[in-house]
Amino acid sequence: MTEIIPGIHWIKLPMLDDDAGLDFVNVYVILGDNGYLLVDSGWNTDASFAALKNGMAEIGADVEDITQILVTHVHPDHYGMAGRIKKLSGASLAMHHIEKEFIEPRYVSMDVLLNQIDQLLLSNGVPPKMIASLSQATVGLQQYVVVTYPDITLHDGEIITTGLFNFKVIWTPGHSSGHICLYEPERKIMLCGDHILPTITPNVSVHPQAIENPLGRYFDSLNELKHLDVELALPGHEKPFTDFGKRIDKILQHHEQRNGEIMKALGDKPATSFQIAQKVPWGLKNSWSSLPDFHKRMAILETLAHLEMMSAKGQVDRLPGDDIMLFRQASPPR
Ligand SMILES: [Zn+2]
Ligand SMILES: [Zn+2]
Repeated sequence: MTEIIPGIHWIKLPMLDDDAGLDFVNVYVILGDNGYLLVDSGWNTDASFAALKNGMAEIGADVEDITQILVTHVHPDHYGMAGRIKKLSGASLAMHHIEKEFIEPRYVSMDVLLNQIDQLLLSNGVPPKMIASLSQATVGLQQYVVVTYPDITLHDGEIITTGLFNFKVIWTPGHSSGHICLYEPERKIMLCGDHILPTITPNVSVHPQAIENPLGRYFDSLNELKHLDVELALPGHEKPFTDFGKRIDKILQHHEQRNGEIMKALGDKPATSFQIAQKVPWGLKNSWSSLPDFHKRMAILETLAHLEMMSAKGQVDRLPGDDIMLFRQASPPR
């Protein structure tokens, strides 16, 4: 546990073993005049629960003293343990209203969503024989999630208060369609979930649950945050950081560069996301074929997010018709 400023505590909870690259998920415990606000909840594992309990003990409190839980989005590393904590403490749970709609298809009756993902991959050129392994890549994670529904659904601009701290809810679609950040203007603090991480670029992909043109929306929400006065950013992974505006610029640059790489990989013949994704360097040392299935799937759907963004800007055309989606470079205006 680290006390970031008086009343705001940072606790690192372990990720699952196979979360390559991410060592922990951050939760923040914020003092109120009636118990604590917990922002994000970690995976529901015994190790994660023990780490939260230890952190709370260092603060001089217990898990039962949490009276409000807020999740930035319903990815399992942020939402997984919320139900367990809620049951123990009687805390209320808040999230953006769009995220609420994802709980049932993601964690309760998954068949529809899995089928939609299969269709999405097929229509983007993935060979049918690869579909089973790519779409099974995330099955099995449900055991680390306690399904629970929010008591409070949030909208952009609303205020979450602990009595001592007032946070403005900022809707930041992109990484997830109902992702929110929390801004404390008096202390100039931003709790940014997975929207902005200090060194990793958050995954922004097309997904059956994604908003239209998710990468374009992600750019818009980054540009919106850039103008806020932020001295300290508290992210969902890695470490708190101070160069908030610069970090936003870097993330924007990264995606612009990737747009260029995807344009190059597209070349002058129509191609599918699947074909293009294999030609993008992705900063990899090893070949495409050595990538784990889950990463291949992410790369294909991230490529699609870039293509959708460039298509919205008129740089890429989507060829009409057909079951398989083909893209080509837009012809230069005459
Ligand atoms: Zn996430
Ligand atoms: Zn995360």
